[in-house]
Amino acid sequence: MLEMAYIREHGELLQRTADGKGIALSVEELLERDERRRSLLREVERLRGERNRLSEVVGKLMKQGAAEEAEPVKREAQAANDELGVLEAELAEVEADLRRLMLLIPNPVSADTPEGKSDADNVEVKRVGEPPGFEFAPLDHVELGERLGIVDLPRGVKIGGARQYVLKGAGWHLHRAVQQLAMDVLESRGFTPLDVPLMVRGEALRNTGFFPTGEDQVFAIAEEDRYLVGTSEVSLVSYLAGEIVELDGGPIRLAAATSCFRREIGSSGRDVHGLYRVHQFSKVEQVVVCENDPELSERLLQEITDNAEQILRLLELPYRIVAVCIGDMSQKTHKQYDIETWMPSRQAYGETHSASNLLDFQARRANIRYRDSEGKLRCCHTLNNTAIATPRILIPLLENHQRADGSVYVPRALRPYLGGREELRPDD
Ligand code: AMP
Repeated sequence: MLEMAYIREHGELLQRTADGKGIALSVEELLERDERRRSLLREVERLRGERNRLSEVVGKLMKQGAAEEAEPVKREAQAANDELGVLEAELAEVEADLRRLMLLIPNPVSADTPEGKSDADNVEVKRVGEPPGFEFAPLDHVELGERLGIVDLPRGVKIGGARQYVLKGAGWHLHRAVQQLAMDVLESRGFTPLDVPLMVRGEALRNTGFFPTGEDQVFAIAEEDRYLVGTSEVSLVSYLAGEIVELDGGPIRLAAATSCFRREIGSSGRDVHGLYRVHQFSKVEQVVVCENDPELSERLLQEITDNAEQILRLLELPYRIVAVCIGDMSQKTHKQYDIETWMPSRQAYGETHSASNLLDFQARRANIRYRDSEGKLRCCHTLNNTAIATPRILIPLLENHQRADGSVYVPRALRPYLGGREELRPDD
């Protein structure tokens, strides 16, 4: 977490950032709590000394057999002790309050982060490929999936309630194929694949900046201090928590292919159609841990963005990149690019990837450090990006690659993962 001296010095910037990110935090209140904590600490120290001194006097008097003289001193010691009890209780309260407020301090955003309140204010920085011009009435992914017999939404809802789905046959294969393709691209680019816990302690979510601000989005496991992750970023970053890592060989690149679980509180009525916003999906995630060097982590942000772009190029999908504005960023993010892939049924680009540089925000909370060239311990920088998230990516994959006869073209790079299939057909 940030040091108090930094917060004191940058109070205005941190307040502006909290306001811009929509976080209910008063930095002034936090500083006032800190002030109170310090004055209580001083008072508690003084009273402890006083109580101990008086107890010693009582002890001496009793030894000398001066029990009567000891009585008023005893009363004084008792009074000091009572006052101490009251102040210690207040101190515990103030410290808890301070911890709660400290956990709300946001990561300041980069100088090139756009101003704005929501995703509508994100700024396009790159566009690749052309949305297809169909010479027939194209279907959306739900109709396509049903006709191909690969997506079954009603049975998903029957089993698990709203925002659930079943993928079947070639749908299951497609879902797995895009993940394996993404993982193979990452491994070829120096990432180590990990299979990680998806049920994690509350501490892992706090350390990575998902608690407390995103607590309402997380499924809690009843009667346990354990939660289902919304992204394996939590597990991958926590994998190194509390450690002094070795960075002499360069940044640490980790990847996982896991299920993700999200409550999607606040999005009721939004994206209810099809596979766009569901409670359980699969994601191949990239996490990078590097030295505390803003130029290096900026380069790595470009690198992990390019990894995702490479996967989209292999899937032959049109996409664009947007610079995410402050109002669409979470507490932990310093700089963010979203990649949006063209979704014909929406006649719009839809978010499929999200790349972030967090600087040392997570590493401070998770206590991930390294020794710099002078042997000094420093907190690392951490970054993350989606490599592929499915079934969301199946929306552009099915919709962009559909053909007039109802078949769906399979991009070349995916074919080895699908037994060489060049297309999906309704009658297969
Ligand atoms: P995030 O971790 O929120 O940046 O999301 C990363 C990617 O996961 C998004 O760009 C989507 O492709 C996918 N994703 C996030 N939330 C959902 C959801 N509720 N349903 C399906 N896919 C999702």
